[in-house]
This record gives sequence, structure tokens and C-alpha cells, in this order.
Amino acid sequence: ELSTQLVSTWLKDYADVINENTNYLTDLDRQIGDADHGSNMSRGMAAVAALDPTTFPDAPALLKKAGMTLVSTVGGASGPLYGTFFLRLGTSLPAAGQLDAATLAAAMKAGLDGIVARGKASLGDKTLVDCLSSAVDAAQKAANEGKSFAEALAAASKGADEGRDATVDMIARRGRASYLGERSKGHLDPGAASMAMLIDSAARTLA
Ligand code: ADP
Ligand code: MG
Ligand code: MG
Repeated sequence: ELSTQLVSTWLKDYADVINENTNYLTDLDRQIGDADHGSNMSRGMAAVAALDPTTFPDAPALLKKAGMTLVSTVGGASGPLYGTFFLRLGTSLPAAGQLDAATLAAAMKAGLDGIVARGKASLGDKTLVDCLSSAVDAAQKAANEGKSFAEALAAASKGADEGRDATVDMIARRGRASYLGERSKGHLDPGAASMAMLIDSAARTLA
């Protein structure tokens, strides 16, 4: 069961991971963007981590509030995109009951669809979509194979890492990095890096 407390543990863990990696994410963004991805994510996740889980009726309500908090506290492109992801998780996940791999995959897919609707990035555009999409595919494959919720999350985390690493060779077609064209090649996308951290954090805390 995905309790409010468990979701809060995930969000706080991710806020810690972002804090530990603020300089790393900002350095990635310095290569192909405007050197603020670490500080954007760290400001947003500090506000999310400050939410009191006991004031929400259920886990979906906390996820929706986390999404709205990111939209309102993060100035950059990543704020509305991560915000949409958490909002969609909140509207897709059930308020109670045992979670299985299929429910996980469907919720992650809903989050991905929200990000794509908002940011219009396609696969291969060198964004966090490349990371998340690879994670969703891995979760769906695990669900189709009858794997457990925990196994599907572990598979999603592995898929996220692969999708993140694949952005190195891509040419950016969305966001600030697209201004560099060919010169964006050879660099890891900062948003893909922070998205892989989010899914890795989920696999460590929720499974
Ligand atoms: P900004 O580019 O406004 O400074 P950030 O630096 O916080 O915002 O975030 C940059 C990241 O956002 C990129 O690395 C990329 O992964 C992601 N991103 C930017 N635009 C899009 C988009 N249209 N669709 C999906 N992801 C995007
Ligand atoms: Mg930036
Ligand atoms: Mg910026």
C-alpha cells in the first residue's frame, strides 16, 4: 500500500539526493544550458520536502500538492514538467489498496504523457523524456511478464539509467540546449540526470 508516509519518505529522499547533487546537475546544465538545473531542482524539492504528510488525506493528494509546489517554486522549464509528472501520478494512482506492476507502469505512463503534452518533446530530443520513456518501457515489460511491483520499480530504475545515458549522443531539439544544435552532442542532459535520480530514489524507498 502506497501510504502518505511512504510517499513523503520518497519525496524527502529525492530532496536529499538533489541536495547532494546540486553542483553536479548545475555543472551538466553549464555545458549545454544556463547552469541553473541544480539550483532549480533544489529550491523546488526543498519546498516539497517541507510539506507535512499528516495534513493530506491520502498519497494522491500529497503527490498533487507536490506537483503544484514544483510548478510554483521552480522558475525553469523543469518546474512545470516535474510538476505535471507528480500531478499526473496523483490523479492516476489509487488512494488505497495494494499496488502491482501494471498500476505502477500505468501511473508512470500517465506522468510521461503529461510531460509530453506540456513540453512537446519527442523521443531522441535529448530531454528528461528520453530517461522517463525508457523507464516506462521497462516497467511495462516487467508488468507484462508478471513481475512484482518491486521488480517493476527496479527494472524502471535500470531503464531510466539507460535512457539517461543515451542522451549523451543525442542532439538537443527542445529546451535551451537546442540553441547549441550539433554542439549539444557529447553531453549528458541535466534533466535526464535528475529524472534518473527520481526513479532510483523511488526504487530505493517505495519497493
Ligand atoms: P531551464 O532550461 O529553463 O533553465 P532547467 O535547467 O531547470 O530549466 O531544466 C532543463 C532541463 O529541462 C533539460 O535538461 C531537459 O531535460 C528539460 N527540458 C527542457 N525543455 C523540455 C521540453 N520541452 N520537454 C521535456 N523536457 C524539457
Ligand atoms: Mg537551466
Ligand atoms: Mg534557467
